[in-house]
Amino acid sequence: MTGLFIALALLAALGVTGWRRVRRARLRRALAALPGGSAATAIEVEAFAGIDEHLRARQCACGGRLDLRGERSEPHGQRVLRVVRAECRNCERIQQVWFDASRAYH
Ligand SMILES: [Zn+2]
Repeated sequence: MTGLFIALALLAALGVTGWRRVRRARLRRALAALPGGSAATAIEVEAFAGIDEHLRARQCACGGRLDLRGERSEPHGQRVLRVVRAECRNCERIQQVWFDASRAYH
């Protein structure tokens, strides 16, 4: 009987973990599909100030505002991409937003 309880508790724990993983993966895909969610959908900016402007207006999937946590440049063929790490003030999820800053560099 104890063995059955342990097996059931284990199954329930595995179910919750799996469900969380599926939900997280779904959210990651939804964020990647947004403009700036990946290199393919990088948002074009004329100047670096455009990045700050966009981040101020952008919201997390949960509706929270974003805080800048770091930036890096990434050459991508002919383009120069700027990858910004931002943290949601509400759910604390870290996300990356891609910008095409090629024009800002020229
Ligand atoms: Zn959030």
